[in-house]
This record gives sequence, C-alpha cells and structure tokens, in this order.
Amino acid sequence: MRVLVLGGTTEARQLAALLADDTRFQATLSLAGRTRDPAPQPLPTRVGGFGGAEGLADHLRADDIRAVIDATHPFADRISANAEAACAAAGVPLAVLTRRPWMAEAGDDWRLVLTMDAAAKALSGLPDTIFLTVGRQELGPFLALDRRFLVRAVDPPDALPIGAVLVLDRGPYTLDREMALMRAHGVGTLVTKNSGGDATAAKLDAARALGLTVVMVDRPPAGTAPRLYTAPDAVAWLAAHVPSAIA
Ligand code: NAP
Repeated sequence: MRVLVLGGTTEARQLAALLADDTRFQATLSLAGRTRDPAPQPLPTRVGGFGGAEGLADHLRADDIRAVIDATHPFADRISANAEAACAAAGVPLAVLTRRPWMAEAGDDWRLVLTMDAAAKALSGLPDTIFLTVGRQELGPFLALDRRFLVRAVDPPDALPIGAVLVLDRGPYTLDREMALMRAHGVGTLVTKNSGGDATAAKLDAARALGLTVVMVDRPPAGTAPRLYTAPDAVAWLAAHVPSAIA
C-alpha cells in the first residue's frame, strides 16, 4: 500500500525507520533538498519540490498514493498547506506528525511574538549577546541590527549580521553544553522558534537556569488534518486509514 511521508525532520526519520520494517506499507520519503549533507534515510527517498499543491496532487494520483503523513517541520507552513489542498483534491487521507510545542515554565521569561520581524523588533531593550537559533534562512530581519550576535545553524547561512559569531552544529544538545556556550559568549537573550520536541529543548533549560530572556516565535496556524505526536501513532493511523493495509 503506497504511502508518502513528507519529511525533513527527526520525526520523519523515526517514522521512516518504522515503515521500512513494516510490510503492510510501501512508503516513500520526500525531502525538500535544503540540507546540504542530509543524514542517510531508511526509506526510498525523492528530493525536491512538487510544484505547489497542484503538482503534489498530480504526484499523489500518478504514484497511486493511498495516504500521506506530513512530518515536516512545524514552521514549514507552505508544504503543509499544499499537502492539505493536494490531499483534499486527490481524495487522499492526510495526518500531521509533529512535535508538541514548548510551554513556558515557572522561572521562564518568554516574550511571545508571531513573526521573525516582530522578534527582531522585540530585541530593543533586551541585553546582548543575542543568541539566534532560528534557522539559517530566517536571519533577514536581524542583518541590519547593530547588536552583538551569536548565530547557530546546521549549514552556513548565506548572510550574517555584521560581526556575528557563527557556530555550526546539528545537535543533539545537552544542558551542560548549552550553558557553557551561553556563558562563553556572554549570551543575554535567546531568540528561537517554538519548534518543540526534545532534541533542541536544552537551550530553554539553559536560558531558565541562567535567568535569560527568550524571544519565542510562535507557530504558524495549524491546518485541519489530525495531529499525531509519535511515530508509532502515525503507523497506527496509517493502518486505520488504509483499510487494505490492516493485517
Ligand atoms: P516550506 O516553506 O513550507 O516549503 C517551501 C517549498 O519547499 C514547498 O512549497 C515545496 O515546494 C518544498 N518542500 C518543502 N518541504 C518539502 C518536502 N518534504 N518534500 C518536497 N518538497 C518540499 O518549507 P521550509 O520551511 O522551506 O522547509 C523546507 C524543509 O526543511 C521541510 O521539508 C521541513 O520539514 C524542513 N525543515 C524546516 C525547518 C523550518 O524551520 N522551516 C526546520 C527544519 C527542517 P513545492 O511547492 O514545489 O512542492
């Protein structure tokens, strides 16, 4: 039974590992092709855009896809909107596999904003050094600011704020390492998107422990597809929504 997983995340890789060993499904993983040196994947993988919602709907019909799991990043809102539209057009069931968003805890000082532009504006009055962990493609609003920046990214950004220190790292991160990095660079403010999940949460624990302010960019609005939070739940959903896949 043919299944398409829209990926580019740890959760997609976890689901791919389960589906690779599950004879009920013939699954393909789709990546956008943004990461320069992507980790090996356990499923047959296609790379590159589909050509919008229409292109994705054509792909679903041409490949006889019977269900789609959107396991893209919570901030990858265009592919998620395309998946909703394409699956509706092609009559294919869709579910979203995502991470639970982070929630502020006692001792946190979070400034919630809705966009990266608003995050840049919220820095006025907050202390340097500003630690940007927003992704290399989201640095635009910070480029012109005359502040001290520490930037962390998986791949080198095309442009950096003047004088910014760049750290290339793909994690996973630990509390001790995050605190050591923040102390070494005199970090006063952390800027992050609410990606959620465990893999990058240590920076928030470190910010709390060090008494730092966090500028938190909230998630884009979710669509209407059911939301699942673990790879096994996604496999169970697939089995339930692809009737002939039930053993
Ligand atoms: P986006 O803005 O939602 O998507 C832009 C375009 O990229 C889509 O319209 C689609 O092109 C193509 N695309 C995105 N994901 C794809 C996939 N899995 N397979 C095939 N085509 C895909 O996405 P983005 O924010 O640039 O993120 C790109 C990828 O990086 C996503 O797969 C996401 O899971 C991963 N990622 C994103 C972030 C983040 O913070 N945004 C963080 C970590 C990983 P067409 O319209 O031509 O189909």
